Amino acid sequence: MKTIGIIGAGTMGNGIAHVCAMSEYNVILVDIKQEFLDRGLGQIGKNLSRQVAKERITEADKSNTLSRITTSLNIEDLSVAALVVEAASENFDIKSNLFKKLDEICAPETILATNTSSISITRIAAVTTRPEKIIGMHFMNPVPMMKLVEIIRGYLTDDRTTEEVNAICQSLGKTPVECNDYPGFVANRILMPMINEAIYALMEGVATKEAIDDIMKLGMAHPMGPLALADLIGLDVCLAIMEVLHKDLGDSKYRPCPLLKKMVDAGALGRKTGRGFYIY
Ligand code: NAD
Repeated sequence: MKTIGIIGAGTMGNGIAHVCAMSEYNVILVDIKQEFLDRGLGQIGKNLSRQVAKERITEADKSNTLSRITTSLNIEDLSVAALVVEAASENFDIKSNLFKKLDEICAPETILATNTSSISITRIAAVTTRPEKIIGMHFMNPVPMMKLVEIIRGYLTDDRTTEEVNAICQSLGKTPVECNDYPGFVANRILMPMINEAIYALMEGVATKEAIDDIMKLGMAHPMGPLALADLIGLDVCLAIMEVLHKDLGDSKYRPCPLLKKMVDAGALGRKTGRGFYIY
């Protein structure tokens, strides 16, 4: 296993590329526009410089890591990868089209993983001819800092694929934890309703955004308040996950907060657009 393909150079894709290249894998990073690739690579450079400044890595580690990453606008370049991790936008149609294409171009033994936060691994696997080789590899944000990778087995994912992906996570210095394929898996089944409820509390005027975040930080020992965390994740991503929970679990307790929808409509997506619950 030497080359890992990554689709999407956004928040998660550039983080996954960073940790794979740091662990001496060659990385091919694919997106749909050169400016997205340039931005992703720029972010990796900045994050590596921060690690150098903190003396966690050397300048040579930084340049070696960057030299292992190539970028491409052509998904066919991923045909040489032994593992592909898809981290494109949280949308079933986008992901299913990508997996159909990957299934055509990649060798039959290639494992095709998705970093989806909530979309069914089983449904994604069903558009391919290799459902046993499709798996969820749900990295946490920010990827270079967070240890957990939630490993999600689709209905037909086989043991060998799961074992190989667990071993790759360990080689990246991560801790894989397995779960089964239900909407939102474990992490977002529990986290997102909490964030959504914090947005309802803000909308209803229960408290200011600062007070909601302080209460959850100081009272529950959370490192970040839920509204600041929503800005970090991206409000569009939060809304997409709530919509999956609402639709697939069919329970009104998962309905996305109207304020969340309104902010996404306004393009206030959090840190990535400079404005969410807070201004950046
Ligand atoms: P993002 O919007 O920051 O980046 C998505 C990238 O995918 C963009 O650069 C976009 O141009 C690219 N893309 C879209 N369609 C594409 C295609 N057809 N081919 C190639 N590239 C394409 O999103 P993100 O926050 O990085 O999320 C990516 C995935 O990771 C989603 O499935 C999301 O649910 C999941 N995720 C996000 C977080 C988080 O905190 N943001 C955490 C864990 C998992």
